Amino acid sequence: MTFNPDNYEPASDLLKDRVVLVTGAGSGIGRAAALAYAAHGATVILSGRVVSKLESVYDEILELGGDRPSIAPLNLARAEAQDYFQLRDQIQGEYGRLDGLLHNAGVLGTRTPLEHYDMSTWAKVMHVNVTAALAMTQVLMPLLNESTSASIIFTSSGVGRQGRAFWGAYAVSKFATEGLAQVLAEETSGAGIIRVNCINPGGTRTAMRADAYPAEDPRTKPMPEDIMATYLYLMGPDSAGITGASLDAQVKKTV
Ligand code: NDP
Repeated sequence: MTFNPDNYEPASDLLKDRVVLVTGAGSGIGRAAALAYAAHGATVILSGRVVSKLESVYDEILELGGDRPSIAPLNLARAEAQDYFQLRDQIQGEYGRLDGLLHNAGVLGTRTPLEHYDMSTWAKVMHVNVTAALAMTQVLMPLLNESTSASIIFTSSGVGRQGRAFWGAYAVSKFATEGLAQVLAEETSGAGIIRVNCINPGGTRTAMRADAYPAEDPRTKPMPEDIMATYLYLMGPDSAGITGASLDAQVKKTV
């Protein structure tokens, strides 16, 4: 059966006893995913670069009755090896394992023809969107392998599957993200503990979307909380056995 987010009804305790790290958890899709995971029973580790935003999400999770989350500040543009090891040690000390990792943080860069693309912007976008996600994953692999069943989700985009003029480093970084997920999915499939998949959120009402489409009426796009079915499905046991897939969070409803 093909997964259809419009028909998916996750159990309220879908992620009970699961420890899940979300990057870019302070705003946009990452905030919505952190809240959705907590609402379905997960203990969430909130990672991001602005502590005050993470603290707001922390408070929201407690207000909705979720497990007490952790805060793990990390600026992916600047993080070095010791910062990832510190994150690993924090998770090791608090939980001893990691059951889920949502790589959600991302930057848009500029919308410029490749001929004129600024190379320092290129390097920053590729670093935050791809290299930092791999660096974090590498360091956290031992903790993911401590899980009975771990799910890694990378965040892709429509322009990571079909190139589009002027999307520059962002588009190329999302192609790389899809490739990274596929390679890691194959490498981990033998042991059968870690699954690796991608989600393409589709156009969603966030700061990044407004930045990319300033003339668009934001009300024409769904809110991040409206697209959480796929995020829950791939993070939880309902998708057991699925690895190396790339799913769309939004499916057009057939009338
Ligand atoms: P937002 O810009 O609203 O959120 C991006 C998140 O990434 C923020 O939490 C931001 O933190 C974090 N982030 C950015 N740079 C860094 C950094 N250096 N270190 C740590 N965290 C960082 O965008 P969205 O919520 O829309 O995007 C979430 C993901 O979804 C991205 O990967 C994006 O590419 C992807 N996506 C979004 C689509 C959309 O239409 N919205 C469509 C397709 C894909 P801070 O709050 O501090 O800025």
